[in-house]
Amino acid sequence: MNFSDFGQKLTGDSGILRLMADLGEKPPADVKVYPLGGGNPAQIPEVEKLYRSEMEKILKDGRMFENLIGRYDGPQGNVEFIKMLASFFKKRFGWNITEENICIANGSQSACFYIFNLLAGTGTENGKKTLKKILFPLVPEYVGYADQGIEKDMFVSLPSRFEEYEDHTFKYFTDLPKVKDYLMQHDDVAAMCVSRPSNPTGNVLTNEEIKTLASYAHAHEIPLIIDNAYGLPWPSIIFNDKAELFWNEDIILSMSLSKIGLPNLRTGIIIARPEIVRALSNLNSIIALASGGFGQAVALNLIKSGVLIETAEKIVKPFYLEKNRKCQEYIHKYFKGTDYLVHKGEGSIFIWLLMRDLGVTSMEFYRILKKRGVIVVPGEYFFFGGDSFASHPHYSKCVRINYGCEDTLLEEGIRIMAEEAKKCSRK
Ligand code: PLP
Repeated sequence: MNFSDFGQKLTGDSGILRLMADLGEKPPADVKVYPLGGGNPAQIPEVEKLYRSEMEKILKDGRMFENLIGRYDGPQGNVEFIKMLASFFKKRFGWNITEENICIANGSQSACFYIFNLLAGTGTENGKKTLKKILFPLVPEYVGYADQGIEKDMFVSLPSRFEEYEDHTFKYFTDLPKVKDYLMQHDDVAAMCVSRPSNPTGNVLTNEEIKTLASYAHAHEIPLIIDNAYGLPWPSIIFNDKAELFWNEDIILSMSLSKIGLPNLRTGIIIARPEIVRALSNLNSIIALASGGFGQAVALNLIKSGVLIETAEKIVKPFYLEKNRKCQEYIHKYFKGTDYLVHKGEGSIFIWLLMRDLGVTSMEFYRILKKRGVIVVPGEYFFFGGDSFASHPHYSKCVRINYGCEDTLLEEGIRIMAEEAKKCSRK
């Protein structure tokens, strides 16, 4: 069958499709699996209990359940949920927002797809066609964006600068002068986008970096998309107490209910200027009619009452902080004696490990580990938006580890990883 350009672009040979297919293929049946790969959040009993209790209330409350399953919401989302969010964000963060600034999508992943293709791609300006692009100023960046452009070459990116520290850690930073120069020299940038906290690296852009990027966005009259899937005020998987949440009319803030335990309820929240919210609602109307309402219904009273935020702060954040600490401890224990660096664990559910001794690519290393049942994600996938990355010193030397699984699996998975890394060492 001959698919359209759109069909071929989105179903063809893409990194994420290959990765998903490969992650989906199980290791041999007699091999124990150490699941350090995918993006699932941990299942935390205290958090699960809250959702069960909300669901029970919905089931018991008159025709609430029937109305929830038997009625479409409007394309912007559930009116009551959006109203509640507007007043929540206004009160808690002092933002000047109303219902016109909020739109609900079927997960923040589809929201990103809408936003990228709304802003970038071929457009007509003053009678002239130009291909507008999304700029990712902090690569390595979330692989889930890499193939979301409907047209080819819609994404460009700039490699992160990095600093190394003596305790086998390092940290990425946006190369701000480079970003500034790039924007000055290229008038085809439609928006910038960063994940904060970052998937895959666990980096949290500093307040200064975000403010500077937002000031560049303002100066160039383009939006700054901040993907806050792991950030404040929920799930609050962010360990840097100084990090603040920012929003203004130059920012498109993307949030999600997934990483606080509701990934299968597919609820993404976009906060943006009304013009963008209206456009996203229209897209949602055409593409999906409406977004699913279960996540909004389950979260409504939990957000309104402050319980979700309190749970994020008191349960979710400490849970991941402790896991993150243990994961780093295991890495330092088992990788000792090798030339390795761990990215500072500032947030998200991932640890980014750089193995400079590795004598094979991280893609090959991933396959070696998979045979032993250890599933991680090879680093190459997170370098996209240009072809200069093959020369980046981290390009084929990193893996992403999801540290949310049970401690014994995490420790043994890392032990096996270190054992194989030593076997693959160039030294
Ligand atoms: N953004 C980032 C940085 C993510 O890691 C993910 C999921 O892993 C998403 C967005 C998509 O989340 P969802 O569509 O479940 O809201």
